[in-house]
Parts: sequence; C-alpha cells; structure tokens
Amino acid sequence: MDYFSGRISDLIEQLGSLPGIGRKTAQRLAFHIVSMPEEKVKKLSDVLIETRRNVRYCRECCTLTDAELCPICSSPKRDKRVIMVVETPRDLAAYEKTGKFTGVYHVLHGAISPMLGIGPDDIRLKELMRRLEGDVQEVIIATNSSLEGETTAMYISRLIKPTGIRVTRIASGVPVGGDLENIDEVTLLRALEGRTQL
Ligand code: ZN
Repeated sequence: MDYFSGRISDLIEQLGSLPGIGRKTAQRLAFHIVSMPEEKVKKLSDVLIETRRNVRYCRECCTLTDAELCPICSSPKRDKRVIMVVETPRDLAAYEKTGKFTGVYHVLHGAISPMLGIGPDDIRLKELMRRLEGDVQEVIIATNSSLEGETTAMYISRLIKPTGIRVTRIASGVPVGGDLENIDEVTLLRALEGRTQL
C-alpha cells in the first residue's frame, strides 16, 4: 500500500535498491532528504552524477578513481615493487585501513569462476601481467578465501612463477568465504604478515 505520495515512494524505492539499505533505512533517508534545504539536495545529486560520470580505472592498478592514476599509484612513498592483488576496490580499502601496507595494489574486479562462466579474460589479469614486465619483486595474492578466490590465486601463481618473481598468498586466518572488507584490521594484518610463498 502506498502510504506516501508517488514521488516519496519512488525515492524510498530508489534508495532501497542500494546494497545494504533496507526498507526502514530507505524511509529514514527519504524523509531526511525531503526535509533538507533544496540546495543541499542539489549538491548531493550533483555529486552523484559527477562522480559517476568521472569515475574510471587507474591506469596502473585498475582501481576506481577519477584521475589517470589513483592516489596510491601516484604517491612517491609507495613501493611499486610490491604488488598486492585484490578482487575489488573495497578489498583495497580494507587493507589501506590497516595503514601498514606500503606497496601498491592491483584490482582484478572479480575472480575466476567456472561456475559463473567468469574466465581469466573477464578480470584484469592482462593488466597485471603487463605490470610485471617492470621492476617487481613480490606479488602478494590477497583474493578472498572462497572457492573463486582460491582458484584465482592458483591461476595467477602459475602464471607468474615462470617470471621468477616471488609470489605469496595471504595466510588463511581469513575466514573461508569471508569478504575481505568485513574482516577486522588485526586479522588482515596477521594474514598479510603470515603470508607464505606459493
Ligand atoms: Zn592505482
């Protein structure tokens, strides 16, 4: 039943279609938005549109950014010889939150999944291999410990081995099937420090 006007219901429906936003939260956000001054709502909608329009993949690590190089790849403080491979930009954010990793990342945007028909060409693997032609000492594979994440880790390690570059896998302190972004920083750090050579 439509308790509210069509427009408010529309807004609730749109907000509710976002991940992690249930109906109650959608309602709360909708009523908050309609009570905001119009210029603030305009600012919010402009930011949404402008961000969407300008977002692109970093030329080096393929994370989402709005410049040619993301802030991590363009930082002189980061060690470009150590590359941590993650599945999503959210995983990157999880490791960045620990504040302890000084290398750079590579974002695959997914994992190999024969079941879902996702093969090596469907993720950003070619881009990773191209980066390895430069001066790289270690590739840390930090894909999830799900079946897809492990399959991807195996595949990548086999691909890199012949190059002689050290390949490591984060320790299995990360719960199986666990989404990296939901794991606390201490666990992530332990996983990183306890990594083993593949
Ligand atoms: Zn980057």
